[in-house]
Order: sequence, then C-alpha cells, then structure tokens
Amino acid sequence: MERLWAPWRMKYIDGTHRDDGCIFCKKPLENDDKGNLIVYRGDYVFGIMNLFPYTNGHTMVATYRHTAIFEELSQDEVLEMHIVSSKIIKAIKLTMRPEGFNLGFNLGRTAGAGIADHIHFHIVPRWNGDTNFMPIIGEVKVISEHIEKTYDKIIEGLKEIK
Ligand SMILES: [Zn+2]
Repeated sequence: MERLWAPWRMKYIDGTHRDDGCIFCKKPLENDDKGNLIVYRGDYVFGIMNLFPYTNGHTMVATYRHTAIFEELSQDEVLEMHIVSSKIIKAIKLTMRPEGFNLGFNLGRTAGAGIADHIHFHIVPRWNGDTNFMPIIGEVKVISEHIEKTYDKIIEGLKEIK
C-alpha cells in the first residue's frame, strides 16, 4: 500500500510506538522466527532475510524501535547493529562464499527504501554474474523454497561463528 505524507503519524515516530502495519515492528512480535526469516535477535536489533531479495542471502538488520531517523539511533542501537551485521556477514561468508558485499541504508522512498519509516541496514552478498539473479529464480514459489534453504545456511553459519 502506498503511504502518503500524514503529519498525524509523526507522533508515532517517537520510538515507543509499534506500527502494526510495519513488518519490522510486527514480525519480531510473532513467535515464528523461521517462518518470518528472522536469523538473529539481539537486545536492540534483529536480523531478518529479505523476502524479495536482491541476491541470494540478502538480509536486513533493523532496530526493534520504530524509527526512520538514522541520526537519532542510540549508541546501543548503532553498536549492536554493527555487531549483528558483522555476525551475519561472517555467517554468509562461511556458508555461501560470496565474492563481495553491498552494505548500506536507503533513507526515504526517493532513495529506494521499500519500508521508509523503519530504519534497516542491508547486507547484500555479491557474486560475479549475480545481476541475473531475479530472472533466474523466476517464480515466487521457487524463491521461497530457495530462501528457506538459505535461511538454514545462515543459521548454521551463525552457530559456527559463536
Ligand atoms: Zn516499524
């Protein structure tokens, strides 16, 4: 659903409100980490695989707190986001052997953020020739089977690096 600018929503961007329509708020509350592709839970942030991956293994690290404002992340959130991202990168390196990574934030829809009002850090493993990933994967069903296998790999990797 397309979101329009709505000033009344600003009161919710205060860090305490959970937005029921926001997957980064909703999924950690459900008791189904495997079904929701949550690979890691920290105290302030969690890691979740992207259901519409740019490449195989595309994972995001998001705060539990509903906020869009990068410069207002707390030190605890910033530090743990880095630490959890490092763990996930290690796990992906160990189990999927990518040749590189794209890492980063998209802030705002104009910048390409799919979910613009809840900050999340992208971890996108890269391989030579992977730009054809989506056309190769094709059907949605095939993607989900593929993602479940990749989920297991990342979980396995995370166990090994502990
Ligand atoms: Zn949210």
